Parts: sequence; C-alpha cells; structure tokens
Amino acid sequence: MKFSNIALCLAALQPVIAKTALRQNHRRMENDDCLALIQDIQYVDGSGEEKFVCAQSDGQMIDIVGEGADELAELVKKNKFKSGTQSIEGCQFKGNGNGPPHECYLPPGLQMKQAGAEDTDRQRKLATVTGDKSVLVVRVIASDGQTSANTALLSDSVFGTNGDPVNLKSQYGACSHDQLNIIPAPPRTDITAGTTTVTVSTSTTEGDGVMRNAVTTALNSKFGVSSPTALADHVMYCLPPNTMSGIAYAYINSWNSVYSDNWCTYVSAQMHEIGHNLNLAHANEGGTTYADQSGMMGYSYGSSNTPVMCFNGAKSWQLGWYSTKHRTVNADEEYAGKMIGQADFSNNPNSHPVLVKINTSSSTDYYVQFNRKTGNNSGTVEAGNQITITRAAGEGNGYAESELLAKLSTGGQWTATADSKPITVTVNSIDLTASPGVADVSITFGTVTPPCTSDTECTGGTFCNPEVCSNGACVAGTPTVCAQDSSFCNGEEICDDVAGECVSTGNPCATTDLCNPQVCSEENGGNCVVEPVICTGFGDCAAEVCENGQCVAPSGDGVCSENEDCNLCQDCMIASPGAVCGNGICEDTENCLTCAQDCNGRTGGKPANRYCCDGGPSVTVSYGIGCSDSRCGNCNSDPVTSGQTCCGDGSCDGAENFLNCPRDCNAPAPTPVPAPTPVPVQCKGSKSTCSANSECCSGNCAPSGRKMKCT
Ligand SMILES: [Zn+2]
Repeated sequence: MKFSNIALCLAALQPVIAKTALRQNHRRMENDDCLALIQDIQYVDGSGEEKFVCAQSDGQMIDIVGEGADELAELVKKNKFKSGTQSIEGCQFKGNGNGPPHECYLPPGLQMKQAGAEDTDRQRKLATVTGDKSVLVVRVIASDGQTSANTALLSDSVFGTNGDPVNLKSQYGACSHDQLNIIPAPPRTDITAGTTTVTVSTSTTEGDGVMRNAVTTALNSKFGVSSPTALADHVMYCLPPNTMSGIAYAYINSWNSVYSDNWCTYVSAQMHEIGHNLNLAHANEGGTTYADQSGMMGYSYGSSNTPVMCFNGAKSWQLGWYSTKHRTVNADEEYAGKMIGQADFSNNPNSHPVLVKINTSSSTDYYVQFNRKTGNNSGTVEAGNQITITRAAGEGNGYAESELLAKLSTGGQWTATADSKPITVTVNSIDLTASPGVADVSITFGTVTPPCTSDTECTGGTFCNPEVCSNGACVAGTPTVCAQDSSFCNGEEICDDVAGECVSTGNPCATTDLCNPQVCSEENGGNCVVEPVICTGFGDCAAEVCENGQCVAPSGDGVCSENEDCNLCQDCMIASPGAVCGNGICEDTENCLTCAQDCNGRTGGKPANRYCCDGGPSVTVSYGIGCSDSRCGNCNSDPVTSGQTCCGDGSCDGAENFLNCPRDCNAPAPTPVPAPTPVPVQCKGSKSTCSANSECCSGNCAPSGRKMKCT
C-alpha cells in the first residue's frame, strides 16, 4: 500500500520537476520524515534569529517554513521540543529546479516522533560534554570567492596548532578544567591538522543556505562518506566572505556550525556556536537576547583571542563540569557560606560550592555563581568578581535560554518570590585576596530559621512548649511540667502560655446549689464538703430562708398569723376605711351635723327638745347625745380608726374582722334560728283544746263531754 502511494506521488511530480531535481527528491521521498533541528543565527548587529531545519541523513539542512515552523517555535518556548531528538513528518520539499531542495513547507498540525536509532546514537554522543570531541574545520572555495584564512591559520585559530594562545580547544579545555578535549578531526587524505578545503561551484550570491548544502555535498563526495558526521563530531564551515548576512550560526544538539569567513577564527564565536552544538541556548539579560555578557552564550566578539571567559551559572550547571561542587537549595532550605568561582574549580582546598541552584517546584530555577574574573574567566565582559544570579527553565539540564537577573557586589542583596516563598541572596563579603578568591553568601529559599547556638535564641516556642537549640536548629523541646503544690483547695497547677507561668486552676469544689455550697477542705488530703447556708434572721412576717445563697425573708401570705407582728408584717396591717357617711350607722366622728344621713337629731325648736346624735365614745357637739340614747337608733359608740389598724393589738377595730384578723375579732354570733310557726290544730269536727293534731284522737283534749273523732 505504501509503495503504491509513493509511486503515485512520483508519477504526479514527474511532469513538473527537472530530472536532476527528481533524483534528489526521489531519495528524500524514500523517507519523508527528517530530524528537526533548531538553527540559532547571530547577526553582526547583535540581533539573532531562531529557525528550524529538516536535517537529512546526508547532512543537508533544509529550512522549514510554514505553519509547522511556527508550531515548533511554540513548543520550544514550552520546553516541549528538543532539537536533534525528534523527527517531523510531512515536510513538503521545494526545489528551485537546479540542485537539492532548499526548503520544505511544513503544514499545520505538526506530527513528530522519536528520532531513529542512528540519529539518536549521534545525539547521545554529541550531548556529552566530556572526553574527546573531534572537530573538522572546512575552508571553502566558491565560484566567486574563498575563505580568507588558509587552512594553517584556521587550524591555529581553532586548535592552536601554531601557537595561537586562545582558541576553541584551549578555551573549552580551560573552562571544563580539562574534561572536554577538542581534538582535530582524524587525519586522512586531504584532512590535515583538523582542516580541509572543498571547492564548490556555488556563488556567494546564492546565499549561505545553498552554499552550506553545497559544501556538505562536496564533503560527502570528496571523502566518499554518506554524511560529514563520518569525518568528525563537529564540522565547522568557514564560508567565503559575503556569503551570509549573519556572522555565524549553528544547529542545536547537532554537528554543524557555519561562520562568515573570519568569524571562524574568533574564539568567542567558536565557543558560542559549538556551545549550541552542545545544546546550549542563549544567555539574555533584561529581556534582550545575547545581552548577558558574563559568558560565551551572549554576544560574540570579532577578536581572535578575546574575551577569555566561560559560561554563566545556568549554562555551567547544564554543562556539569563542576557538578562535584554543585549545591542545591530547595524550598525551606538555605546555603550560608563561601563560594568560589569556576575558574578556581581546580584550586578548592576547602571544597566550597561553585554553583548553587535555587530549586523551585517548577522547571524554572535560579543559579547562583561567583563570576570570578581570573584564569579561564579573566576576560569576562560583565559582572566580573560579582555574584551573578541567572534564571533558566529546563531544570538546568537542557536547551533553555537564560536570563541574568542580578550582579551583586559585597552587601548586595537580591530577592524574588518562587512557589509563593521568598528567595533572598545576600552577598556578605567578597575576598579577592584569598586564594582562591571567595564570596560569602547567604541564600535562603522560603522561611528558613537562622541557625542557633543556644536555647535562648529559639523563640519560636511558647512557655509551655518551648523550643530548644539542637544541632544548630530550633526544634520543639520538652513541654513544661508544672510542679503540684501541697494545697488541694487551690486546684491543679497547670501551664499557662498567656500568663507565661504555671498557674493553679482554683477551687476544685464546684458549687451548683448556692444554698448548699461545696466547701473545700484541706483535711485528709483534701475533699469537698457541703455546707448549707443557715439563715437565723427573722423577716417581716417569718423566719428568713435561703434563696440563691442569700438569706431572705419570705413574702407575706395575706393573713396575720399568731407569730406575725403588725409592726413588722404587712399581713397584719389591715386597711380601714374609717367612718362611712351613708352606711346607716352613726359612727365615731359623725354626728347629726356632719352626717345627718346616719345620725338623728333635732337642731331647731324648743331647746328642751333639741338633740344631736354623736357616734363614738364621746359626745362633743351641742345638744349631743350618745349612742345609748334610743333616739339615735343604729349608732356605734366604738372609736373609729381610719387608715390602718393593727391586727394583734387585741382590739377588733377598723376593717378587722374574724376572717382577716381572728386574733382580735371573735366569730360573729350565729344567726338565731326563728321559732317554728305553730301549725293550727284542726281536730275534726270540734273545738278541741288539743295543742297538736297528733293529739286529736287521744280524746284528751276533746271539748267537755264530747268524744273526738279521729281523722
Ligand atoms: Zn547563538
């Protein structure tokens, strides 16, 4: 099925593609997927460009265009595409009808898969940054120009074969402390001191893309290899002047780097582009690509032997050359102490850290480095002898651009927030006179408690749960134990954080009934005893009783009892209305003048006939007579007390009566039972003398001489 598809495609292509192009396309159509690579290009003005290419098995690099390239760029930003490890499918090659295709169109809907075994093996080898790495430098003779430097100069500039002091080999050797050894490509016919020359028919005016692939084709042809990768681990193309608009570029995690003429001989460009081959990304600052000039992944410089410098913190961590002196500070951890520069990695008797990674929970982390300006780093362009802090994604293990965030001198401090926790880097001191020079730094990530030396420095605890200093850290100590005193009645002795001391809980004898309170007794080891409230007082009307712990007099019941006192108890004070005119009784304080309704009198006429009834015990009015006089009728000679009268004074007066004051008032005399009305005796038929009907038949009371008939 697949074969017939290919045949169909070829048939369709044949009419429109020239025969030479057809041959090239035929070869590519046999395997329509290719290795995707990032191409990082730097221009002379300091700007850069990131492109993608489709790497062919023979070393040709085909520019990827179209929506698929945009999708690749997005994946790079998300750290989801790793150059040199994944193949893309469906790239549609376009030729110009003369020579190999120069670009492929990648439609939207990116399809990728893991690279094939051959590519993977090559990448694995390239990814290593230690051991021998062979480099072939290619001088180019084009139809209208050639590389300015001859092969001897190129070899000297890259390998120092003729005394060049600073070059790719020497500087990678110095920066890696002899762990990465750049060596010339293995010699063979036409490869001498790591260099060779190829001649192409291409013109410089055709651009670096065409020239580059022509050089690849020429190398394969000249040495009878299937790819330039058969000749060396890294192959540097030194293109004739004016071939390319940039100064150099390289493929990430790949073998090829391309230079504009003399840039091939400048150590910073060599280090930078081979750095790309080694999977390093750019070093930025302030959001500007290349602007971090503390290391080689920033700008490149048009100078053969300068600047002498290595890589920033993030790149150094990724390269791993100083990994035995890496230190990681995770959240809630810290580093406090000295750091040395990587330049002194081989002179580190006190085993100080060279790199500290502040490791966040995300893949974006911070790298702290002492950018010691000496030895292999004596020409660092920026932040020399300062503590630098760079940020990079990828956990420090892969291709990720870095950002230089801070350059700190003595006393400098940098803070940031990651994982919602504070990060603080403080430079306590920098001592360049020491050997090696050291920077004393404090790095905290999260809330880190400073180390303690004594318990008094540990203030995080409480009185009851104190902290103690243990191995330099404040940790929870033994909870405070409160000694129990000999008193039972002051309760238990417990720890009180608010008071900051041991306190007693107080009376242990709980009282719920205030009239029968629990009283604490210390006797016999202490116990609680009920002691009722005893009320001895006498209230208004009765003995006091206990209510809610208080002795109170009970309220009256409205009846003046035997033991109640009218002077104390309201029950015994009986309100009296006094004399009431109009009640038909001539009472005390009334007389015929003041109350003619009740008191009789005659106040006119013959003086001898005048009289005036006067109630009460004494007579005080003219012509007055007392109640004893029959003319006064219903008259009362008792004194009348108005207001209140006292029940219990032995006098039934005022409104007192037997019901409300039996003490003073007698029971009223029973109403006399009226005598029965005699029933008329009606003995039948005669005038008897019987006094009761029952006697009528007795015959005893019959009229004289007559018998009574019984009825
Ligand atoms: Zn670059």
